[in-house]
Amino acid sequence: MPEPDTDVVVVGLGAWGSMALWQLAARGVRVIGVERHGRGHSLGASHGGSRMFRVTCLEHPGLVPLARRSAELWDLLGRLTGKPVLHRYGGLLIGAPDSAVVGGTLTAAREHGIDVEPLGRARLAERFPQHTALAPDDIGVWEPSAGLLRPEASIRAALGAAETAGARIFTGTEVTGIQPTDDGVLVHSPARTWSARRVVVATGSWLPSMPTLTPLPGLRVVRMPVTWFEPEDGTDRFRLADFPVFMRELDGGTVLWGCGADPPHDVKLGLEQFGAAAVPFDPLDTDRSVTPADWAPLREVLAEHLPGLRPEPSRVAVCMLTLTPDGQFVLGSLPEAPNVIVAGGDNAHGFKHATGIGELLADLATGREPRIDFSFMDVKRFR
Ligand SMILES: Cc1cc2nc3c(=O)[nH]c(=O)nc-3n(C[C@H](O)[C@H](O)[C@H](O)COP(=O)(O)OP(=O)(O)OC[C@H]3O[C@@H](n4cnc5c(N)ncnc54)[C@H](O)[C@@H]3O)c2cc1C
Repeated sequence: MPEPDTDVVVVGLGAWGSMALWQLAARGVRVIGVERHGRGHSLGASHGGSRMFRVTCLEHPGLVPLARRSAELWDLLGRLTGKPVLHRYGGLLIGAPDSAVVGGTLTAAREHGIDVEPLGRARLAERFPQHTALAPDDIGVWEPSAGLLRPEASIRAALGAAETAGARIFTGTEVTGIQPTDDGVLVHSPARTWSARRVVVATGSWLPSMPTLTPLPGLRVVRMPVTWFEPEDGTDRFRLADFPVFMRELDGGTVLWGCGADPPHDVKLGLEQFGAAAVPFDPLDTDRSVTPADWAPLREVLAEHLPGLRPEPSRVAVCMLTLTPDGQFVLGSLPEAPNVIVAGGDNAHGFKHATGIGELLADLATGREPRIDFSFMDVKRFR
């Protein structure tokens, strides 16, 4: 093979791609990052000012080591750029003891020795009175190591750190083709083609429709509105310090999530609707307009479970999610094209892991043994 233009091209510089770019550049690998939109843009899955960080990963106990490693790397990114990105304010999980949210959290805490504080119903109501209409068997779990990440700022910080370490970045550049060759890969954009030893394709919700990639089975892209509300009486009851980031499983399994006001952001809230109510979405459609139908279900839930907020949101944004059949991420080299490494299927819980996934992708792209067992998210499980 003649010397390629670069060792690795990272396609998509959202949460996962930006962290992979940083990790690769930090190892001295020649790396190019290509992004169809701008840095920290608001058309994908990584905008809206905040994301919850938890170590007690209720989605799969195997994610705990990834979350722990991610926390170390978030702290490192904060030190490198002089601005912390992970804020450990603590986090609250509410539900019945056997609910997915509380049961999954307690299982992860027990299996991995994570320090959490169980809160009986009375203690929960006393400490977090904003949460009303608790079910008779609701309890709380307080995780002190949980907290918030700032997604747009984190992505910009990683891209800055990657550039400082030598990465080259092309924004406003759409990758239109990925062509495996005998000993590498060609990455096409309308203006030029790069040759590389490997490509990391971290295109989030665009992954299922990436040109010339073998379709990945069962990925579904859905639309998810995010809403911000102001307190009715302008009091401090809903400020972040008193109303920390939370997930609350309601009767019937619906999950209400959110976090308190942190100027300039109002109280941020959303409902997980991954079932029949999830609205399929074409990521190539750039229309992100909203209608009252986007917050009507939430409005009803709030009146009962979080009274004291104005019924009309002060702001609404639309994000995208990519769902997989088993709720786990999709990562790894394509069996039919080992120089093509894919990363997607975030299932709405991937931001906290972005630094750890970036490191994992850098391992795969440089032939290092990953420090995390990622077999349960390996793309090969579908083949
Ligand atoms: C409303 C909401 C709330 C969430 N809350 C949490 C939370 O509290 N905690 C948590 O851990 N996770 C949460 N998540 C999930 C988390 O935000 C996602 O897992 C994460 O942002 C996914 O990052 P990504 O890199 O896969 O996708 P993205 O950040 O969308 O990045 C994909 C990038 O690829 C680019 N791209 C696409 N196609 C091309 C192309 N052809 N050429 C070049 N570039 C291309 C896109 O422009 C984009 O920048 C939430 C998600 C949503 C939507």
